[in-house]
Amino acid sequence: MSVVQNISRLSKWYLPGIIGGLIITMRHLLLNLFNRKQMTTVNYPEEKYEYSPRFKGNHVLTVKKDGSLRCTACMLCATNCPADCIKIVASEHADPTVEKYPTTYEIDMLRCVFCGFCEEACPVDAIRLGPEWQTPGVSGSNFIYDINTLAYRSNLKGGILSHVDDEERHKAGI
Ligand code: SF4
Ligand code: SF4
Repeated sequence: MSVVQNISRLSKWYLPGIIGGLIITMRHLLLNLFNRKQMTTVNYPEEKYEYSPRFKGNHVLTVKKDGSLRCTACMLCATNCPADCIKIVASEHADPTVEKYPTTYEIDMLRCVFCGFCEEACPVDAIRLGPEWQTPGVSGSNFIYDINTLAYRSNLKGGILSHVDDEERHKAGI
């Protein structure tokens, strides 16, 4: 079979293609200018797209009723993370009724693939992927999220309460 195509005389000229493209661009520009409600694009950052509540965006470390971290530093999230981007340093808690807790909990957001495996692996609802998707930063260190950012950043308004309650867990013997 021949791979050589018959090219018409007109198609050898690039000008008709360019003019056709410009006409399409101008048509869309004018339609959007005079009918902004029909625009398919969003005027970011003035307008922001509302994603589904199931959207997996920036991580949140949840807190207990007293505001301390829910995380028990069990390492399940870090072990399950396919990008190996969670770093935890665990420590014994002074209160014997409390399991270990993380003295360091960091996520390298530049390596994270937002798969949600950390959230799935956590047995105590200590980590969730929330609806926020903006991750601005001016240097690499801005993308290492620590405990302060993950649990207590200003838009979390003091922290997100975990569904898992210690009293209920102790009653159930877990
Ligand atoms: S979302 Fe996936 S890649 Fe990101 S920290 Fe969690 S497990 Fe790792
Ligand atoms: S976030 Fe959950 S899975 Fe990860 S270390 Fe803490 S308790 Fe374990």
